[in-house]
Amino acid sequence: MGRLSKVGAAFLRLVAVAGPVLLGLLTALYIGRPSPYFLAAGIMLAVAILACDGWIVARRHWITGGFALTTQIAFLIFVGTYTASPLPMPSPISDPLPQASPPGGMAIYALPTGVNHRTAAFAYRGGSPWDKRDSVSTAVLVRHPQGDVLIDTGLGRTIAEQMKEFPFLFRLGTDLVRFRAAADQLDAAGYDRSQLRYILLTHAHWDHISGVPDFPGVPVLVTAAERRFIDEGGWATAGARSMNAVFQEYAFDSGSYMGFAQSRDLYGDGSIVIVPTPGHTPGSVAVFVTMSGGARYAFVGDLVWQLEGLLEREERPWFEARTLGENPVLLRQSLLQMSAIATHYPQITIVASHDPRGYASIPEWPRATTR
Ligand SMILES: [Zn+2]
Ligand SMILES: [Zn+2]
Repeated sequence: MGRLSKVGAAFLRLVAVAGPVLLGLLTALYIGRPSPYFLAAGIMLAVAILACDGWIVARRHWITGGFALTTQIAFLIFVGTYTASPLPMPSPISDPLPQASPPGGMAIYALPTGVNHRTAAFAYRGGSPWDKRDSVSTAVLVRHPQGDVLIDTGLGRTIAEQMKEFPFLFRLGTDLVRFRAAADQLDAAGYDRSQLRYILLTHAHWDHISGVPDFPGVPVLVTAAERRFIDEGGWATAGARSMNAVFQEYAFDSGSYMGFAQSRDLYGDGSIVIVPTPGHTPGSVAVFVTMSGGARYAFVGDLVWQLEGLLEREERPWFEARTLGENPVLLRQSLLQMSAIATHYPQITIVASHDPRGYASIPEWPRATTR
């Protein structure tokens, strides 16, 4: 009996001291994948920790109590990293909209390839953990007389195999629902693949590059910095390394654009202009598209995961940013520049890769001929 009560006492101490670490992990998991199981486990653990605290105080185990207090404060600090912390207002932009002469016959289509069920708290500081958000993976086809461009690929045909290589905790915290791959949608509608001149990546993370192998031989445009990032390693770009993609690097040689010091005007007509927005990854870019009809879009990739990131100038939470290995200084610069553009030019539709609201005004690729 004496031994049993010793084991029991050791367990109560362990829950009070180590419990908050597990509670932090459950919090991060729930925010990325709002499953009732994570929520129930978290509530039960929190109650258990408080009960153990009561036992420690009643028994006056002050040394254990000190350790428990330390980890429990650390947990509260961790939760604090999810609270709102808006960046200072950037200096306003006064430039007029840049000139563009897009040719007639341009068109733009969204190709939704899947969705992750996440929360607002996962996407930006100050987002609520109870506000469930669809984190979409959508490719965008820009049709242009000089050659069509696919901006990101979304989830490809082989995403299930690609996912198997990801860390266990990432898969546990990800509730991915797949739709049809972009290549299947295009093929089903009889798209002539010889029209597709480039795949243009906002960055090389798995959920943007996954469909590249479905378009063999199509050059994949990346910046030199992103190419280095792919080659350097890490699980998030493991797929990019193994897919035998035809990477084609490009330089920013078209002068300044909307406050960005450098840009690349892809076809020289101002219809597709790429600017460097490093931070999320070293070679992340934003793509400004101006249609012949006058509609303008800014595809900002994962600069922010939900539009509030730009509109409220809120960065990704600390845990999400750290696990991605972001460069916070560069990210802040890129985010504030784009935030100034978003507030000054309401006529530009901002499309954050994973925010479904950005795609509302972009027609979906026709499904007329699908089964
Ligand atoms: Zn990303
Ligand atoms: Zn992404």
